[in-house]
Amino acid sequence: MNADFDIIVVGAGLVGLSSALACAHKGAKVCLLDAASPETSQDERASAVAASSFAMFEHLGIAETLGGYVQPISDMLIADGAVGEVSPLTLHFDSTDVGGPTGHMVENNRLRPALLRKVQDSKNIRLLAPVEILKTVRTPKGVTVTLKDKTNFTASLLVAADGRNSNLRQQAGIDVQRFAYEQKAIVTTFKHELTHDGVAHQIFFAGGPLALLPLTGQRCSIVWSDAARAVDAAMGLDEAAFTAELARRIGGFLGEIKLSAPRQAFPLSLQMAERYTDERLVLVGDAAHSIHPIAGQGLNMGLRDAAALADVVESSLSTGLDLGGAAIGDYEAWRNFDNKMLGMTTDMLNRLFTSRLGPLRHARRVGLAAVNRFKPAQAFFMKEAAGQSGDLPSLLQR
Ligand SMILES: Cc1cc2nc3c(=O)[nH]c(=O)nc-3n(C[C@H](O)[C@H](O)[C@H](O)COP(=O)(O)OP(=O)(O)OC[C@H]3O[C@@H](n4cnc5c(N)ncnc54)[C@H](O)[C@@H]3O)c2cc1C
Repeated sequence: MNADFDIIVVGAGLVGLSSALACAHKGAKVCLLDAASPETSQDERASAVAASSFAMFEHLGIAETLGGYVQPISDMLIADGAVGEVSPLTLHFDSTDVGGPTGHMVENNRLRPALLRKVQDSKNIRLLAPVEILKTVRTPKGVTVTLKDKTNFTASLLVAADGRNSNLRQQAGIDVQRFAYEQKAIVTTFKHELTHDGVAHQIFFAGGPLALLPLTGQRCSIVWSDAARAVDAAMGLDEAAFTAELARRIGGFLGEIKLSAPRQAFPLSLQMAERYTDERLVLVGDAAHSIHPIAGQGLNMGLRDAAALADVVESSLSTGLDLGGAAIGDYEAWRNFDNKMLGMTTDMLNRLFTSRLGPLRHARRVGLAAVNRFKPAQAFFMKEAAGQSGDLPSLLQR
């Protein structure tokens, strides 16, 4: 089949945009489709971009366009807390111990436009959004996508980057294992009086963790996970009452705080697709896996999918093999197990740290203190957080 494109990516979220750029960087001709206009997205989240994912943004020329909006994470402090009382037994990860920041904080409403501009500038990518996909047909010979206006596009491979409710995954009959947490997360940004020094804090309360993530310009982003009912109540508070409750949980170390962005609430679930491939189809990002934000790894997993896919694409193009053929099995083997392990780890952390059981609470406090004293264990966790362990795709390497 003489196809219009090598790859059609459906979904221009952070992972779809990155997948299109990564594959185009390796020489593929890519068509990128989204049902919504990427310019109109309202996302108040900020992402902790792991050091390895940030290396990919450097290779793709995105990091330089983010300019003054990138805040390196110099240190991470993890504490077991209760309102008004943060445990004196904290775990402390200093990035000078591993020779550089473990990650960088970037606001999604800065990152997505930066990715979008690169896509629009790329000669190898054609972006069409908003468009409505009428049908997709995948056969042993190739992929055809038909839009509502009856335009047809053909390609060798279809990439589903259409998020956690992925239509393409459902149409392929790929099952998911799903566990809905009885938690939601509130995301917003606040300005503060005292400097954060690039330190990220994660304070564990009985209902879930409160992450304080340093941003540029003396600001922090929060991800406040709590029981769904508590989140609904907090979302219902007026700004002054919400700020007062947040300040009470944080304690006074940042001085006066003032909200600087709207609040958004996200339901939390763990969802893992049973397989990542089907005939001429691969799943990337939240279409394949969606996890608890406790360790800030969901996007990083998706970026690793994008980089792994780009390596598989590069090796097929350079050897003249069919892009949608046996090579996609390598992607499945590379990414599925890795992502399931990380998903299970974040699930376990969430359960451990939200347990109200006295002995478990004591054990985790002692555990935090033990890891804090044991340098090799700290180095291991730092490497995991930086996304530098395992078999790294080429775009994630320095
Ligand atoms: C509160 C919270 C905080 C988080 N913090 C972090 C963090 O600090 N670090 C981190 O690594 N991760 C974090 N994550 C996870 C991360 O935000 C997600 O994993 C990531 O945004 C998923 O991106 P995606 O592109 O796969 O999916 P989405 O962002 O869901 O994008 C899907 C795209 O597909 C399009 N689409 C959907 N259906 C169709 C269709 N039928 N046709 C065409 N297009 C379609 C949509 O319009 C959308 O543009 C967090 C998550 C939450 C909930």
